[in-house]
Amino acid sequence: MNKLIKILKYIVPYWGYALLNVIFNIISVLFSLVSFALFIPVLQMLFKTTKIPESAPDFSIYNFNSIKENFYYYIGHQISIYGELQVLFYICLIIVGLFFLKNLFKYLSMFFLAPIRNGVVRDIRNNMFTKILILPLSYYTEQRKGDLMSRITSDVQEIEWSIMSSLEAIFRDPITIIAYLITLIIFSSSLTLFVIVLLPVSGYIISKIGKSLKRTSAKGQKKMGEILSIVEETIEGLRIIKAFNAIDTSDENFQNTNQKYTRLMIRLYRKRDLASPLSEFLGTLVLVVVLWFGGKLVLGNQTSMDAAAFLVYISICSQLLPPIKSITKAFYNIQKGAASVERIEHVLNADEVIIEKPNAIPIKSFNEKIEYKNVSFRYEKKDVLKNINLEIPKGKTIALVGASGGGKTTMVNLLPRFYDVTKGEILFDGNNLKDLVIYDIRNLMGIVTQETVLFNDTVFNNIALAVGSNEVKKEDVISAAKIANAHDFISALPDGYNTNIGDKGAKLSGGQKQRISIARAVLKNPPILILDEATSSLDTESERLVQQAIENLMQNRTSIVIAHRLSTIQYADEIIVLKDGEIVERGNHKNLLEKAGVYKRLYDMQSFV
Ligand code: ADP
Ligand code: MG
Repeated sequence: MNKLIKILKYIVPYWGYALLNVIFNIISVLFSLVSFALFIPVLQMLFKTTKIPESAPDFSIYNFNSIKENFYYYIGHQISIYGELQVLFYICLIIVGLFFLKNLFKYLSMFFLAPIRNGVVRDIRNNMFTKILILPLSYYTEQRKGDLMSRITSDVQEIEWSIMSSLEAIFRDPITIIAYLITLIIFSSSLTLFVIVLLPVSGYIISKIGKSLKRTSAKGQKKMGEILSIVEETIEGLRIIKAFNAIDTSDENFQNTNQKYTRLMIRLYRKRDLASPLSEFLGTLVLVVVLWFGGKLVLGNQTSMDAAAFLVYISICSQLLPPIKSITKAFYNIQKGAASVERIEHVLNADEVIIEKPNAIPIKSFNEKIEYKNVSFRYEKKDVLKNINLEIPKGKTIALVGASGGGKTTMVNLLPRFYDVTKGEILFDGNNLKDLVIYDIRNLMGIVTQETVLFNDTVFNNIALAVGSNEVKKEDVISAAKIANAHDFISALPDGYNTNIGDKGAKLSGGQKQRISIARAVLKNPPILILDEATSSLDTESERLVQQAIENLMQNRTSIVIAHRLSTIQYADEIIVLKDGEIVERGNHKNLLEKAGVYKRLYDMQSFV
């Protein structure tokens, strides 16, 4: 139930629509009740049991009996003037009119429900996506991508289908049930007592099954996440899967998971489909009990109801069944959707970890230096950086070298606050990085990594990413591409800058992709540049082109360069040698060679090749 409240929270902005929906529902229910009441005189005429009061009784709007007597008197009066057939005809016309109005208002209530339904789903999806953008990178090393995709697609859809489609029932059926029950009480309070006592009993049985439905549903959604993960990883690794003849293994793996999912869903639907027959059976049971006791009362003349009124009573009673049925179905559906609500809330409530302080300091320029002070960092259990001290003065080039796994990438990831230091602090022009506006820090940095990150879009838009393709001038993109040594090959593409580069740039070679990401950094024109093995996946020819591009890019900037090939960083102002998270050597190229330590060994190994 509290899951329902969580969902209703999303409805709050749409309260106006919700109010209209409820109002029109009430009107619609009233019309249907009045039209039922009109059947009584019709039936009485047919049964010829009409007892028309001699004179008009006292009228009071608050007394149901007085309304009834006056109504009967009025009908009788009309009959004495126009004859029975004529009056019957008019009553039939009125009933048709009332049912028309009832359905018109029912439609109106649905009309205002549609924007709520779809608005809520849109809001949840938007919130999810924004959250995905904000969550720290560390979140994604823990979570499977497929699972996240499943949450934003199939769980949101599940909410749309199961919970939102139940909104109608939630808003309408309680009103209907209460209005009908009140009417029944007016007809006969003792008889209605049976109905009211029997309802909670059925309710209990129904909620029992609902609980187990929710458990199964949660398992189902989790399996769906696994399915999406497999699909995602498979498409990504298709080349390797084919090359290693792993098609059968992959296929089998997928079909197993899919089969498990199917089995869960069969169980789920069987349970959910119990809702309708179960509630119908329980409802009919109630109806039969009423028929038995009420029939006894009417036959024994122990009640003020005559046979005609009893018939209408029973038919209103039977009209209680559809809303009870649909509200139990809604209840089941909500249980089914509740699992998805939980999964979505889990993402929406995930810790953001990298949080900007409320009164963070804005920073528009880099003036002096960046300083690592006794910085340590650990992932989960593993210490990756230990006690790092380093100064990066403005305008200098610092190189990080060392064996793979030494912590180089981790060290530069701390600068744009992809991760926060575990111990120590990083000072940016004397201010602790954590005190600054995150957007501003990132705005001062450009990053080029070994794995290029390109999107399935045009060359132009990929380069303009940081600036936004609407604001950027075409000349600027072209001159950035020229600096990045990319203009020539881009011009040779079928549509030049408007060529779509395919998924993750699949239509380009490694060196071309790299030069596009360099052009992106050039266009952003940041004062601080981070190059993380930007050239290490390239062949010699494209490396030469990219290296040139990088040298163009580094001019007049502060750079932190991680280089695999030591030949490319010989001219760095300071070279830092990292080993297992510690700085083991530092100095310029010449000093380090003279020292004949770790750096010299690395250097010799490479010149040997
Ligand atoms: P380098 O860039 O020098 O090759 P990294 O900084 O990428 O090294 O990694 C340093 C160490 O941190 C490695 O031992 C690696 O296993 C570990 N590591 C890197 N990323 C993560 C992560 N997201 N979670 C846990 N451990 C990680
Ligand atoms: Mg690395």
